Amino acid sequence: MIIKHRQERSEIIILRSLNVRMSLSDKEVTNYLNLKKGYEGEQKSDIWLEGLSEDWLIIHDLLLEYNNSKYQIDTLLISQDTIYPLDVKNYEGDHYVEGDKWYISAKKDGKNPLHQLSRCETLLRCLLRDLGYHYPLESYLIFINPEFHLYQTSINPSIVFPTQLNRFLKKLNTKPAKLNKRHFKLAEQLVALHLIDLPYPRLPAYAYGQLEKGTLCPKCYSFFSDLKGTKLVCGNCGCTEGVESAVLRSVTELMLLFPDRKITTMAILEWCKIIKSEKTIRRILVRNFKLIRNGRSSYYSNS
Ligand SMILES: [Zn+2]
Repeated sequence: MIIKHRQERSEIIILRSLNVRMSLSDKEVTNYLNLKKGYEGEQKSDIWLEGLSEDWLIIHDLLLEYNNSKYQIDTLLISQDTIYPLDVKNYEGDHYVEGDKWYISAKKDGKNPLHQLSRCETLLRCLLRDLGYHYPLESYLIFINPEFHLYQTSINPSIVFPTQLNRFLKKLNTKPAKLNKRHFKLAEQLVALHLIDLPYPRLPAYAYGQLEKGTLCPKCYSFFSDLKGTKLVCGNCGCTEGVESAVLRSVTELMLLFPDRKITTMAILEWCKIIKSEKTIRRILVRNFKLIRNGRSSYYSNS
């Protein structure tokens, strides 16, 4: 049973938008692609976990804090007598472990994900103890990408390789899963402690004036190139979308990028760019938002 679903992080959505609307440095693009790849891996792992018995509690994407230390748990599984924090990695290609060091194919020194795993486990154990729970924890590093290979000299039982995913799930499904109120209470408490948003220190600085205006295609994220009747057409992937849904997506995007900007007909006309009719924009805003009347500086709000 899924207690908390995974949502795409705002950080990725913002970076995807900036990547089209301004020019990002190589480092910023790499960071964006890494985050995106990580998220795709997490989504794959969510599908894999659909094979887990219904009796288990599943919490996706928890951001917790203990003693001012923040830590992220990709997926937390609650069974009858054990709690399993899973860290999902979408790595691909050859990786090497030598002693305590982790290398990527080009022999570049990478972070050892096992250190992150044990840090998370320690912080979570302290939090659970404070909440009065003493279930044992078993953390796993899940390598979801079949193109991943790790050269290592010793066997580490907390690593699950792509070829072991099915067997690992079968093993979990043999564990006792008679849950009671206390398990549900724990799940609720953890979800309540989830930190909604981080400031994103990795985001590049951006300003409204420097961003290219236009409406993005929801499939390939390039700018829509044509307006035919009530449909927008993407010149890159050929997909089409109704004007209303495209405008609403653009408003959401603008609000995420610039939470302080007021939503007005003129603001959205400028932001969407491809739609030239003030009347069309106003009609869509009136239908979907609340007009906050304030003379000449009236604006639309979604709350
Ligand atoms: Zn497209």
